[in-house]
Amino acid sequence: MTRKKLSVRTGDTVRVIAGNYAGAQGQVLRTIPSRGLVVVQDVNMRKHHKRPVANARGGVTEGGIVTYEEPISVSNVMLLCPQCDEPSRVRRQRDADGTIERICKRCDHPIPMAG
Ligand SMILES: [Zn+2]
Repeated sequence: MTRKKLSVRTGDTVRVIAGNYAGAQGQVLRTIPSRGLVVVQDVNMRKHHKRPVANARGGVTEGGIVTYEEPISVSNVMLLCPQCDEPSRVRRQRDADGTIERICKRCDHPIPMAG
């Protein structure tokens, strides 16, 4: 499998552009570059029903419904430019002190890397 850097990072705000959650918008909680996946807040929610389990002290650990985000393909999301508030393609550019910047192709403003 080819290893490619993801276009989004943890902390970025992205818009979902395809799939069941198309149109949704949220923060990237986690990226899984090796599989081309991202976890986006409140997108692709799953419910996991936990059964009550007897624990070591003879009591019962309560069951319940746990909701969590299932990763989605990074190709289904697009980085949201904070400047023009639109999902944008970006180009990368090395700035004066040598750090890579992402520049919105729409409005030419740099999009800061979170974290
Ligand atoms: Zn922009």
